[in-house]
Amino acid sequence: MTAITPLHAATNKRPVALLVDRDPDTRRMYAEYLKLSSCIIEEADDGRAALAKAISGRPDIIVTETHLPGMSGFDLCSLLRQDAATRAIPIVVVTSDVVEADVRRVWQAGADAVLAKPCHPEALLAEIRSLLQQSASLRERAGAIREKVRGQLAKSDRLIEHSRAVRRQKLSKVHSRHETTTPPITPPMLECPLCDQPLRYLRSHIGGVNARHPEQWDYFECTDGCGEFQYRERTRKLRKV
Ligand SMILES: [Zn+2]
Repeated sequence: MTAITPLHAATNKRPVALLVDRDPDTRRMYAEYLKLSSCIIEEADDGRAALAKAISGRPDIIVTETHLPGMSGFDLCSLLRQDAATRAIPIVVVTSDVVEADVRRVWQAGADAVLAKPCHPEALLAEIRSLLQQSASLRERAGAIREKVRGQLAKSDRLIEHSRAVRRQKLSKVHSRHETTTPPITPPMLECPLCDQPLRYLRSHIGGVNARHPEQWDYFECTDGCGEFQYRERTRKLRKV
């Protein structure tokens, strides 16, 4: 037997392969060959057992037949793809169902590779090697993308925070409440509501809840000594203060 380059999973540990086939001879044939490439072998002879082992053991690769007792290989693939614990595990389907419709069904169910029986263990190993490398590099790439996105998010958060701070500063400047004798709205000419004498303009107060809703209050005094009055531009009401 020629030397076989050992397989390595993403974490550089020995990869665990779950072999699913109802035929023990087929499992043995593949198991013996894969063990030579440093694989650790798990086996299941039906679909349900395979699903349970896949979820609890999270193998690095799953090799399955389509014809399985209890649950078909198609259903097994679909269920493995639906479960968060097993979604990313590469699946190789080795099948004697090589008519086009079945092959399409296998892809649709979520398999990563389809091999036709009889399949030499060497071909299976080559497929597994390629999938493990692929999934390792995909996982690395996904990790790098996540890091990059996280960095960009942090950066845009900082930018947003900065622009908010600048905006707050601008708003508070615009909206500084103050007294003025040169208000934005020219104060009206008014008469004293008590004695009908003209009111003399004194000053205005610029206020309100925020810069978008400013208020201007004009203060007057009666030239005849009735007191001070406040005129609100918004309500156009005059009252004694
Ligand atoms: Zn008056």
